[in-house]
Amino acid sequence: MGIEMNPSQQPPLPLKPRHKSKSQIRCRHCNELYFDDNNPRGACEYAPDIVRSCINKITCIGCAQCICYHCAADAEGDFAQHPCDCTDDENCTKRWCCLTFLSIFVPCLWLYPPLKICHWCGVKCGACGGRHTILEAWVNNDFPRYFSVEM
Ligand SMILES: [Zn+2]
Repeated sequence: MGIEMNPSQQPPLPLKPRHKSKSQIRCRHCNELYFDDNNPRGACEYAPDIVRSCINKITCIGCAQCICYHCAADAEGDFAQHPCDCTDDENCTKRWCCLTFLSIFVPCLWLYPPLKICHWCGVKCGACGGRHTILEAWVNNDFPRYFSVEM
């Protein structure tokens, strides 16, 4: 009364322990790794944020970004994603001159700094801001690791 082993039947693979909260997940928006239990609002800069997009539309900041791209981009074509950020580079002065000039014709740009401060406060309070979102390919963590090749 021996145990019959079917050669085509492989013993079940040991289940690997899952530590969902401890494993890092890649974000679809910023492509960075994050922990599922450490994903507050405002964690992801590139995630869709309805408040931020409203501010951008109201203040016509896209117009300023466009001007910054044309006036203050460096030799490689890099330019400040946030036109109102103050960095140490030489383009900062140029950018602010462009913004000041532009704000004469687009006065709604003046609303950007106060609204941006409100948004920043909202993010700090956890009221607004985008969260990291799991990259679809990583949702199913059970990638086939073993392939059975039938000859
Ligand atoms: Zn992200």
